[in-house]
Amino acid sequence: MKTGATEEQIARVVSEVKKYGLKADVSRGVFKTVIGMVGDERKIPFSHFEILPGVKEVIRIEIPYKLVSREYSRHFESPSRHRIIKVKNVKIGGSEPVYIAGPCAVESREQLFMIAEGVKKAGAHILRGGIFKPRSSVYSFQGLGAIDRKTAEKALRWLREAGDEFDLPVVTETRGELHVDLVAEYVDIIQIGARNMYDQDLLTQVARKKKPVLLKRHFGAGVEEFLSFAEYIAAEGNKDIILCERGIVPIGKGRSYTRYTLDLGAVPAIQKETYLPIIVDPSHGTGRRDLIYSMSCAAMAAGADGLMLEVHHAPAEALVDGQQMITPDELKNTIETCQRIYKLVQLKTKNEVTG
Ligand code: PEP
Ligand code: MN
Repeated sequence: MKTGATEEQIARVVSEVKKYGLKADVSRGVFKTVIGMVGDERKIPFSHFEILPGVKEVIRIEIPYKLVSREYSRHFESPSRHRIIKVKNVKIGGSEPVYIAGPCAVESREQLFMIAEGVKKAGAHILRGGIFKPRSSVYSFQGLGAIDRKTAEKALRWLREAGDEFDLPVVTETRGELHVDLVAEYVDIIQIGARNMYDQDLLTQVARKKKPVLLKRHFGAGVEEFLSFAEYIAAEGNKDIILCERGIVPIGKGRSYTRYTLDLGAVPAIQKETYLPIIVDPSHGTGRRDLIYSMSCAAMAAGADGLMLEVHHAPAEALVDGQQMITPDELKNTIETCQRIYKLVQLKTKNEVTG
């Protein structure tokens, strides 16, 4: 829209966009308002929009992840801006890295509280804990959520209580559309696991909860696909998306050394494309406790906005992913070093992106 376009003119364009069966994404910069048209682009008569009062120009942005791209946001914000996602008193994507830590799976109230206390003392900001676990085998522990709804709710309540007790916002995964409402009731951030990155109906439904979404990259997805699926969340008007690099499928005999291949090159590449924060999960990315420290440091050096780390007070006794979980003491050590690395590499200033 032209500088100084009136609210009526903006509303008129929005209603015209809707008339064509598209959604309108209104972003207000300091001087300019930009209206993104979301949906099947074949339906857009450019010449019609060009002549509406208050319209400066109509531009086609060809990339499939338009709303989350810098290519789009640069029309109303400074190109160097980042989106800061506020979750209670934690800022993700701001000037400090964020550490999300906790067990792979919630096993009991006692286990969760013990780990929550440990990760808080170690310097973590957000508590994680899986309740609906995506597993490769039907014969493995599927998480307490799989037992029945009552148990799922009980485990979600523990997570909420542990978060409140130690002043940590909480995140857990919703594995299917069935549990979105339930999970959203208890957590501050809703996680979409790697295996579900491609589930556009799940993405849409989670986005509508108007809570921040932690979207993990599928292990077979390219960067463009990853961002294109993040776009499904943004298309619902929810841009509080935290991207997470968690490793892609290894080649050759790779799997006998690391569970996945942590694609750290994707971190700065993605930061050039989008203003969304991106964190790294070295736990699933390596599958090995003895590599977590090194790869956490490497992720920080690559410029990640934070880390997600699986932590257990007794990894050997864990029901899931014991081989990759570190102890709270190891977490403390990792965070201390990562803080120093982050300060060295974060020379750029970070400002908030609105809209
Ligand atoms: C998890 O974070 O609990 C998890 C299962 O990770 P991913 O979806 O990346 O495999
Ligand atoms: Mn795990």
